[in-house]
Amino acid sequence: MEGVGKSLALKITELQTNGSLAELNKLLGKTPNGVIEMLSIKGIGPKKVGQLWRELEVESIGELLYACNENRLIELKGFGEKTQAQVKKAIEFKMASAGKFHYYAAEIVADKIIAEIKIKHPAVLVSLTGAIRRKCEIIEIIDVLIAEKINTENFIKPENSIPVNFIFCDKDNFYDTLINTTATAEHLVLIDSFKASTKNKSEEAIYESLGMQYIEPELREGLNEVKLARNKNIPKLIEYKDLRGALHNHTKYSDGYNTLTEMAEECIKLGYEYFGVCDHSQSAFYASGMKPENVLKQFAEIEVLNKQLVPFKIFKGIESDILNDGRLDYDEEILKQFDFVVASVHSNLKMDEEKANTRLIKAIENPHTTILGHPTGRLLLSRQGYPVNHKKIIDACAANNVAIELNAHPYRLDIDWRWIPYCLEKNVKISINPDAHVKEGLLDMYYGVCAARKGMLTKEMCLNAMSLTEIEKYFTS
Ligand SMILES: [Zn+2]
Ligand SMILES: [Zn+2]
Repeated sequence: MEGVGKSLALKITELQTNGSLAELNKLLGKTPNGVIEMLSIKGIGPKKVGQLWRELEVESIGELLYACNENRLIELKGFGEKTQAQVKKAIEFKMASAGKFHYYAAEIVADKIIAEIKIKHPAVLVSLTGAIRRKCEIIEIIDVLIAEKINTENFIKPENSIPVNFIFCDKDNFYDTLINTTATAEHLVLIDSFKASTKNKSEEAIYESLGMQYIEPELREGLNEVKLARNKNIPKLIEYKDLRGALHNHTKYSDGYNTLTEMAEECIKLGYEYFGVCDHSQSAFYASGMKPENVLKQFAEIEVLNKQLVPFKIFKGIESDILNDGRLDYDEEILKQFDFVVASVHSNLKMDEEKANTRLIKAIENPHTTILGHPTGRLLLSRQGYPVNHKKIIDACAANNVAIELNAHPYRLDIDWRWIPYCLEKNVKISINPDAHVKEGLLDMYYGVCAARKGMLTKEMCLNAMSLTEIEKYFTS
């Protein structure tokens, strides 16, 4: 047949006889499932997927989305800002269809719905309820409680197709229903909610009538919050306004979008007292990690800016890769010049628990390490993160006076809030870090605070709730 050579003819015969190609199967066997899945994303063909895999080490759709958020595709040959935006949109759509949503995406929709109800029915009592009100990191449905049967048919249809569930009740039992729909079943059993007298005027009154402290919605999971509330032992939870500065951020020096000046000015605009710049270290080649000469160049720029921006201060930080053997990424000579060091794992993520623990603990024990960055490397809804023994890691941080990051990026929220109580028990401070790669990313600290509250973090135990004077002292002690 014309156009079909001998080798192609053989392959066609093989495919017809066996229903598969040995050579293709061999190649598929060598390709991670996530990479094969990436082929289903609209807008990038096999050649580009191969490039993403080999050049950026992206091995799943979730990692690809994260790479878009870190602007990794802009510089890549054959890609660019437009392609990156398209890929991002395509992935977000794909993820949405899987029925699970990051809290931040759900919250945007939820806020719009509440605003719409308040405009159309200003006199009606309304509240978010369920998992979204508990600020869970993953949301499957937005629950809305309304104290009147209103017509919701013509309400905005969420663009990302997240389902919305309207619950209607009488005005008289709005608060009882709010309690019953916000909490998990476990929490309701523990508080004996059926004993609450009806027609209460507020949730505070209901908890009081049940003989306990008020329990914030975020805490109503059915863990140990009820026991603590009965003994009046729930501390005052941290609030977004308690934050005084932003540590761990990126600039154009590595893979950030904005300049040092732009990032600092944004922090000032947001009312912060200090900014920690933590660009990537030299081994992070995929993120344009800084060679020692670039570090020195950045130091010089910081010193000039710090004179201009007084009393605001930029701290000289670094996000040092934790190398495969647990060492940090520069010589002593450079390391000792940083005000603080965030130590994070970015490469060789496929480790067993023992290897991960050894690697992390070695980095924690390094006297230059100030904060352990995103302790598990997880990406919510897409990458599990390497297995670590949280207790051992937290104990090591306690022994070496190292704080732990709660990476506030809504895809990370790593350390998991469930481990915050153990950190507090061991007197390990939590740093709510935006890991901003663009100035708007500084606002992500809000999501960090949401997660931190679920873990009962207090202002006193949050590193970046310290004032400038306090944190200066902390970094030098
Ligand atoms: Zn990182
Ligand atoms: Zn970072």
